[in-house]
Amino acid sequence: MRVPVAAPTRLDPDEAAAVQQAAAEVIRGSDWVLGDPVARFEAELAAYVGVASDVMVGVGNGTDALVVAFAALDLPAGAAVLVAADEGGYAATAARLAGLVPVAIDSGPHGPTVAMAEAGLTTGVAALVVTHLHGNAVPIAELDAWRRSRGLILVEDCAQAHGLRVDGGHVGNAGDAATFSFYPTKNLGAVGDGGAVWFADAAVADSARSLRQYGWGDRYRVQHARGRNSRLDPIQAAILSARLPYLDPRNDRRRAIASRYAEHADLLGDLEATVAHHAVVQSESRDALAAALEACGVGTAVHYPWLVTEMPGLEIAPARTREAATRRDRILSIPCFPEMTDAEVDVVCTALEESR
Ligand SMILES: *Cc1c(COP(=O)(O)O)cnc(C)c1O
Repeated sequence: MRVPVAAPTRLDPDEAAAVQQAAAEVIRGSDWVLGDPVARFEAELAAYVGVASDVMVGVGNGTDALVVAFAALDLPAGAAVLVAADEGGYAATAARLAGLVPVAIDSGPHGPTVAMAEAGLTTGVAALVVTHLHGNAVPIAELDAWRRSRGLILVEDCAQAHGLRVDGGHVGNAGDAATFSFYPTKNLGAVGDGGAVWFADAAVADSARSLRQYGWGDRYRVQHARGRNSRLDPIQAAILSARLPYLDPRNDRRRAIASRYAEHADLLGDLEATVAHHAVVQSESRDALAAALEACGVGTAVHYPWLVTEMPGLEIAPARTREAATRRDRILSIPCFPEMTDAEVDVVCTALEESR
């Protein structure tokens, strides 16, 4: 048996039927761009995360969600944005696309600390992006208080954290905006690309709705600078509506799988505050562990093998990133997706035990 590290096309039969039907309905209907399917999904996702439906904006993907958030929040061109060194390059890429300058900060096992963020403060810093990596909640209270005292915008990247609740509320409600990706492997995935962004302020959400569609105010009249075409596709929106009811049970299954692994390995993160987007094992001999697991038929991956300061296309200034770099060399993602069979979970547990 070979256990893949992810298998986004392996859907439960009920969910697969719902997805097929949702797509077929859009094709039979007349809303082929935006329209009811997108408005309906925005309202359903807003209700799910506990915000008003007029602050949720569907866009083309999770990268655009960040770009549109930066533009709608009116971050001035050339402003600097703090991103965690281990965030995978998504926020940094979006910052560059928005004409901003990403600045790397270090990140501990629970995300950046205030001291790490403070160390990144150079002149011109206007915003902080907090990424809830691997579906693990970054404790936000102190960072939020700090960034308010500094007058910084806060954007939470929730692309790996759909359905993650802490203290009774969905993550993403501390900042000025929170972004989602619906890339197929995410906890809530489309059959292709999709994204969404929610704003604390309804007027900013209105700007984002304009920015996702050329910057139009009235039809055919560009009202806002920095517009683009990044509409959430209605077929994807309908599919996401069909899949949303499955999100909580699927997240429960992810957590159950992760807690099995925790009996056999040192897992990154806190089982009480995760939606287990990735199950990440920490090991002093990561490469040997990866080889041993692969030899047992267990797929593995590293999320992520490069810090943002090591990615040539981002041109980010060197920074103190010691904790992120140390962790990067020790982490290994192992199979964790809701459709895994119990037999597959057993295979992974046995392989972990044997390679201890
Ligand atoms: C996947 C992901 C993104 C980018 O989403 P796309 O839909 O692929 O553009 C952004 N941030 C994080 C943390 C992600 O995991």
